Amino acid sequence: MTVTREDIIQALRTVEDPELFKDIVTLNMVKDVKICEGAVKVEVELTTPACPLKEKIRGSVIAALKQVPGVGAVEVDLSAKVRSMTDQKNILPGVLNIIAVGAGKGGVGKSTVAVNLAVGLALQGARVGLLDGDVYGPSIPTMTGLAIENPALRGEKIVPFEIGPKEHVIKVMSIGFIVPREKALIWRGPMVHGVIKQFLEQVDWGDLDYLVVDLPPGTGDVSLTLAQSIPLTGAVIVATPQEVALMDARRAVRMFQQLGVSILGVVENMSYFVCAHGTEYDIFGRGGARNMASTMGLPFLGELPIDMSIRMLSDSGDPFANFATTGASQQRLVSIVQALAGQISIRNMTRPAGKPLQVDVTE
Ligand code: ADP
Repeated sequence: MTVTREDIIQALRTVEDPELFKDIVTLNMVKDVKICEGAVKVEVELTTPACPLKEKIRGSVIAALKQVPGVGAVEVDLSAKVRSMTDQKNILPGVLNIIAVGAGKGGVGKSTVAVNLAVGLALQGARVGLLDGDVYGPSIPTMTGLAIENPALRGEKIVPFEIGPKEHVIKVMSIGFIVPREKALIWRGPMVHGVIKQFLEQVDWGDLDYLVVDLPPGTGDVSLTLAQSIPLTGAVIVATPQEVALMDARRAVRMFQQLGVSILGVVENMSYFVCAHGTEYDIFGRGGARNMASTMGLPFLGELPIDMSIRMLSDSGDPFANFATTGASQQRLVSIVQALAGQISIRNMTRPAGKPLQVDVTE
């Protein structure tokens, strides 16, 4: 019995992407079909290299193709191409997704999560940039172990710093490289607007799948400038589980929603603590941020325990080491990264192209 390309495509129409709830043919994920005497090879292009459901999709494709009469051996090649919801005519045409990481208040681990999201995405094979938008308290230079020195210029453009191994390199830029951290940064709205615009327009970000932006805590000028200057893919909210922190986190969520920025998900940081004997202590009331996400109808990306090694590796500027261990935090970080990548893909496939928000910030 001769197997035709049409038979294969028909069968692949029964395979649904488990996150996007559409079949992989409609989603344009089937890139190539080769048939040779009943042996079939298909290339499926995932929407992110950090797809947590890779093997599930592979299994479903094999199962569907085995149903087709005449099909013998099946090979599935999985590749990945990150998609974007923007029309690429914005000020950062090479950057496919911009993800703002915000929090209701300081000290909840927003920068820690931002750095680890960037590292985790890079380790999954994505091209990643990290912009320290926390102009009032830039901690990215410390957390990435970069020396404070003025960035180089290439023509008119500022060259970002780079961290990580060559195949997973992350481009990094922070106001902390330009203004010493100890100097109190008393910025007024228009100055903040200027510096953020400059970081978007004048830094040579090149081609990136994800640009992670660490925002200042609370609700303020940087978020407004970002939403106004560029189509943000969405925001991640970091919160600790206690009620006083959640009140501020809710406010941050509402601010993004008012700016027309979708919430890609909530991360519960310092969720619990595991002592040396393995007992878990819910110091701040584990589950608070998860409940907040659920009542506000937001995706929950995962929880991260209080882990001394996370703090030590932040202080020593070695975030890649968080992923090199085999502990519980490493698994949680990977799953948060994959959940975020999944939410970004969902957003890109289900929403129309975003436009920068028109908001007057002349105050
Ligand atoms: P924010 O950006 O919200 O102000 P940071 O990311 O700077 O917060 O984190 C504040 C402090 O808490 C840092 O010293 C950081 O290393 C530490 N920290 C953050 N998350 C964790 C965690 N899950 N376990 C242990 N220490 C953490």
